[in-house]
Amino acid sequence: MFFIRHTFAHAKSIYEIDIDFFKSNKVKLLLVDKDNTLDSFKAYHPSERAVELVKKIRASDIDVAIISNNHGPKIVGYAKELGIDCVTNSCKPFAKKLNAYISKRNIPKDNIMFVGDQMVTDVGAANKAGIRVVLTDKIVKEDQWTTHINRIFGRAIRKKHQRKGLLIDWRNKYGKD
Ligand SMILES: [Mg+2]
Repeated sequence: MFFIRHTFAHAKSIYEIDIDFFKSNKVKLLLVDKDNTLDSFKAYHPSERAVELVKKIRASDIDVAIISNNHGPKIVGYAKELGIDCVTNSCKPFAKKLNAYISKRNIPKDNIMFVGDQMVTDVGAANKAGIRVVLTDKIVKEDQWTTHINRIFGRAIRKKHQRKGLLIDWRNKYGKD
C-alpha cells in the first residue's frame, strides 16, 4: 500500500550515527540524500562536517554516493567537492535511477544502505529498490517548495510510524536485521 513504508532505523541526523553502525550492518555502499540530510538545499558546497563525515566513512572502506532529486549543477559540484559519485534528478520515490546506479556498482543490495530525511521520496525509493533505509529528521528548517508537498504526506506517515513504534533508533539496530 502507498502509505506503508519500512524504515530500518531512525536517526535525528546522519551526523549522530557512529560509523560502527554501518560496519556492523555490513554496509559497503552508503547512499545519501543531500538536501536536508547532508546539508541545506541551498548549499552549493559541502559543509566542513559533511566533508569530515564522508572522509571518515570512506576510511572505513564504505563508499558513499549522493542520490538526489535536485537538478544537475548544484549536486554535481557538491559531490565533486566530496570526491564521490552522484545521481541527480533521481526521481525518488521511483527506484529506476537508484537501481540503475546500484547495478552499475555491482554491489549486493544486502551491503547497501540509504540515509535520507524524507519519508515519501527517500524511504519510498529505498523500499522499492529493496535496500535498508535510515530516516533522519531534516537538518535545517528551510525546504525547497517542491519538498513541502511530500512533507505533508511524509508527516502523516511518520506520525503513524511513531505511534506504532516503527521508527527504531539506530542505536538499537546494531548488527541486527
Ligand atoms: Mg532531503
